[in-house]
Order: sequence, then structure tokens, then C-alpha cells
Amino acid sequence: MSHYVDEVISSVKERYYWEKEFIQSVEEVLNSLRAVVDKDPKYKKHKILERIVEPERTVSFRVCWQDDKGEFQVNRGYRVQFNSAIGPYKGGLRFHPSVNLSILKFLGFEQIFKNSLTTLPMGGGKGGSDFDPRGKSDSEVMRFCQAFMSELFRHIGPDTDVPAGDIGVGGREIGYLFGQYKKLVNEFTGVLTGKGINWGGSLIRPEATGFGVTYFAEEMLKTKGMDFNGKKVALSGFGNVAWGAALKITELGGKVVTLSGPDGFIYDPDGIKGEKIDYMLEMRASGRDKVQDYADKFKVKFEAGKRPWSIPVDVAIPCATQNELDLNDAKELVKNGVKCVVEAANMPCTLDAVKYFLDNNVLFGPAKAANAGGVATSGLEMSQNSMRLSWSSKEVDERLHGIMINIHNACQNAAKEFGTPGNLVNGANIAGFLKVANAMIDQGLV
Ligand code: GLU
Repeated sequence: MSHYVDEVISSVKERYYWEKEFIQSVEEVLNSLRAVVDKDPKYKKHKILERIVEPERTVSFRVCWQDDKGEFQVNRGYRVQFNSAIGPYKGGLRFHPSVNLSILKFLGFEQIFKNSLTTLPMGGGKGGSDFDPRGKSDSEVMRFCQAFMSELFRHIGPDTDVPAGDIGVGGREIGYLFGQYKKLVNEFTGVLTGKGINWGGSLIRPEATGFGVTYFAEEMLKTKGMDFNGKKVALSGFGNVAWGAALKITELGGKVVTLSGPDGFIYDPDGIKGEKIDYMLEMRASGRDKVQDYADKFKVKFEAGKRPWSIPVDVAIPCATQNELDLNDAKELVKNGVKCVVEAANMPCTLDAVKYFLDNNVLFGPAKAANAGGVATSGLEMSQNSMRLSWSSKEVDERLHGIMINIHNACQNAAKEFGTPGNLVNGANIAGFLKVANAMIDQGLV
């Protein structure tokens, strides 16, 4: 019966043939679900696959703002409200020139299963704009965020849709977006996560994605009797996710030796630790988007225009963006003896790269499980906002750690139950899917 999966994949390919990233994410998820839909005909009967690949609602709008020279600017804004079967839509906003509906639909689709895995009541959504924050002044970013929220506010709310950050949207942008929402709605509510600590934010939220990825990787390594102590680790990117991962990996005795940016990568054989990790925050705040600054400051090797996957390491953790690690990179890593690859960015490995890792017995942690610590801690921020209380760093960190261990167990168990033990790609997709699909069936045809 798993031709049901083939039918749905081909109809998505036909209908949305130009949405290449979305198609890639649909193929990745649906191919894992063959054993599930074969085992229980109710998913086909309720047309769950046909329904789950269509967003419940997509909003697209014009964002007009004025730059510092007084010139008018026009950008496109979006919010894809993908699935609300298990909670309000939840997912980040991405501000990057590459943003289009294909990218936001892939991210929103992934978010459904990721949020389900966290065990917290959050549906899936994603949004953003093709606005490029690079080289913009603070006032320009503020005016853009205000203009963006002037439309978005009517589509979101603490029990409807709760956006957060993603690439190009950090604490500063969340502040401007929140300020504008509050002014328009006249309510102080937990409508966004990633808020500042003095106005409803949660401790550990900035570190959460990187810490969560590391906790997840630790569980993976444990299954082969290994840990981070003494391991060489390649990270890509140098933003928030890579920063959190570098902090936690170093604390656990690992040595992070690479970072990357749009300009190339740096190799620091002594390890990126202490003030070097702090410098990552400075690089990010500078808005220059150049990792070469690290090489200039700490006098290490910089390779222009290249990715870090040629450096021999035990663990590779892509933290930058989608499709940043392809089949050739995967071959190079395997040739150099990589033991574990963990996706910290969303869909950083191409489908053929993932297959290559799995075929070569490399431990592989898919994004929707491994990087779920960010949105999980957003869920914890929502809980604290609802209670009007805040937890200590220790309490949030312990909950995050527990969630990541549970996600790893859920993926392992689902992979085993459906006949592919150890395959965390299948495990994550199946465990994430079952909860949402069953909730959709319980709630009727809506
Ligand atoms: N953008 C992050 C992700 O991809 C976090 C989303 C959130 O906190 O809502 O999961």
C-alpha cells in the first residue's frame, strides 16, 4: 500500500513543482512513513498525508518602510500557518534575501514534526521576509520590524500563533516586533518567544538550540559507548546555534575546530574556547557576516569560499542553513573517519548526503529531532508566561536536557518498532507524525 506515499509525493511535485526545498522536505518525511501507512489503513482513509502537506493557512503581505536616506522600500512578508492539530502554530521568523514560499513551507512543514517531538503542545508554522538585515542600521531594522508587525499582528496571538526568531531574527528584532504588537493590540502577552529577560523571556533560550543539539549528540554517542571528551568537532556557521553548541561541547571536553560564514571557513586547531566563543557574539552583533574576522583576530587559517567539511573530525555539526552539506562533503567526512553527524540547522544535509551517512554506518541525527531544543525552550517560555512566573537557568536547562533525552528515546523506539533500528531519520519522522496524525483524526475533517 505504500504507493499511497508515492501518490502523495508525486501530486506535491506536480502541484508545487517550483518549490524545490518544500518538495525535498516532503520527500524526506513521507518516505519514512511507508511502514506506518502500510500498517494502519486509517491514515489513508482519513487522507492524512494529503491534508498534512497543505498549510492550513498562508498569509503573504507587502511590507513598506523607509530607509535612513528617506527612500521608500518594499519587501514581501509571509506567515505559513501549517498545522494546529496539537497546539497553536509555533515557529520562527526568518529575515533573509533568499526567503520565499518554498523555503518557508519547508521550514513550516519540518516544524510540525519537530514541535510534536518536543512533547509540548505546539502546532507548526513559519514566517519571514526577504528583507536583508545585513548592513542595515538599527533604526532601519526597527522601522522594518514595525512595518512587518503592522500587518502580521492581526494573524497571530498567544493562543493562535506564536512566532520566534530564526536566521536574521534575534533578540533585537524580537524586541522591536514585540513593542509594535503591544502598541497595536494594547496587550502584554506571550505572543512571541525569544523575548528579553526583563520582559517575559526565558533564561537559556539563547543557548537552547546549541545546548539541545549537544545533549542530543551526547545520547547518540552513548549508544556506541562514546562521549564528547577529547573529540574533535567541526561546526559551520557562527551565529546563535553554533555559539550555544561551542559552549556546551567545550564544557563536555570536546574541541571545536571550525566555524564558517558566507565568506568561507576558519580552522582553529587549538580549539574555539573561552574568549574565542565570546567573540562569536561580537562577530554576530557587528552585522558584517564575515567569519574571516575571527581568522584576522586570532591568527588562524581562513579558507575563502569553502565549507569546513574537509577537516578530519570525529563529529560534524552543520549549524548554518539548508543544503550546506552535500554528497561530496559527506564522502569527504566519511573518508576522514567521521563518527557522528548532527543537523543543528534546518535540513542542512541534502537527501543523498543523509543516505550516504546512513549507508556508511555513521551516527546521523536529523534536524527535526536534534535541533528541537530551541523551540522546546520557546515552549517553556510560553509556559512561564502563562504562569506569570520565571524559572531559574538550572530549572530550564534541566527541563531542556530531559526533553532532548526523551526525544532521542522516542526516535530510537519508533525506528525499532517500524523495522529500521538505529535510523533516527525514520524514528523522528514517525514519532513526530503519529501524534499529529492521530490528533487530526480525533478532531474530524477540519
Ligand atoms: N527557528 C527555530 C527553529 O527552527 C525556533 C522556533 C521557535 O522557537 O519557535 O526551530
